[in-house]
Amino acid sequence: METREQVLEMAREAGFDLVGLAPLARPRAGTRFEGWLEAGRHADMGWLARNRPRILDPRSLLPGGKTILCVGLGHSRAAVELPGGGRVARYAAGRDYHNLVGSRLRRLARRLEAEGLIKSHRRVVDAGPLLERSHAAEAGLGFESKAANLLHPAFGPWFFLGELLLDVELAPTAAPGRVAAASCGSCRACIDACPTGAIESPGVVDSRRCISYQTIENRGVIPRELRGEIGEWAFGCDICSEVCPWGRRAPNLAERFGIHPEVESDPVSWIETGAEELAARRVGSPLQRARREGLARNAAIVLGNRPREEGLRALLHAVEGEESAMVRRHAVWALARGYGEERRARVALGRAERDPDPAVAAEARAST
Ligand code: SF4
Ligand code: SF4
Repeated sequence: METREQVLEMAREAGFDLVGLAPLARPRAGTRFEGWLEAGRHADMGWLARNRPRILDPRSLLPGGKTILCVGLGHSRAAVELPGGGRVARYAAGRDYHNLVGSRLRRLARRLEAEGLIKSHRRVVDAGPLLERSHAAEAGLGFESKAANLLHPAFGPWFFLGELLLDVELAPTAAPGRVAAASCGSCRACIDACPTGAIESPGVVDSRRCISYQTIENRGVIPRELRGEIGEWAFGCDICSEVCPWGRRAPNLAERFGIHPEVESDPVSWIETGAEELAARRVGSPLQRARREGLARNAAIVLGNRPREEGLRALLHAVEGEESAMVRRHAVWALARGYGEERRARVALGRAERDPDPAVAAEARAST
């Protein structure tokens, strides 16, 4: 068997659903990426701007690198509801995919080296300086959609990507017929469904308006005008994927990643639990990506958008006793939004107008 076929076969044997090869070269979407950066659509993700040269020239990631092996692992499952209310993006409900995809890639690389098929490699899962969707599209794993994700006819948008950069030159794989023939066509369901208008034009998402960015990557204040639109999303957002017709027939792979215990917690506890304990609870979960402050902030917004008695109690405590001014600020907003008719909330908001942090006090004044 030729090296190329052996590599692809071993990648499938490593347990990946989708495998393909592309040249290790400037990504096809490079120019679009540069325009996206220049327009500031990456928000506070400064590492993307800092890594621009490496992203545009991925050969710099592996001296002598020639080929990129792209892999996909399906994770489709039913929607996940937190107890008491609140949602997390489906990909984040189970075990951390970085570990699962990363460990499979590590074993695969060891095997390729042991078989003498490669001498060196570099492994990338999600956080590496790579436009992975662009390379994966070139390798035939799917097509880039109007929602700026990668779609596959069998898995829709519900699969993780990972890459191995290799030091051998292997001929690229072509997209199989059903992938090559697939496209968004005239559909615009995701654009119409996005509650914040984050999909500015086909294939261009402005992170500054995207709920996924705001609830996961943003470490600070979420703009007031987006908080109501966040609705029940406590971590991430799946709306553009859920409305996508390509994902409707994806297999249910919930068992592959299981359910992490943290996803069985009421988001109220994200406000009421200290950083250390919450960090221990999140070990092995994609929820680790957000800090305790971020999760408490998100929980406050969800509780403001979906009022309930436990939420009122948690927000009252937060407004009066929460250490983080950033969280207090969102708790103030949430109290006013969801519980303004309640006397207890009005009293707490009145006191918050005298909060020692000027931003919290201003939020309270703006809310009453
Ligand atoms: S993840 Fe949510 S907010 Fe972001 S583009 Fe998709 S629908 Fe819009
Ligand atoms: S919802 Fe429609 S337009 Fe959006 S990604 Fe899916 S097929 Fe493309």
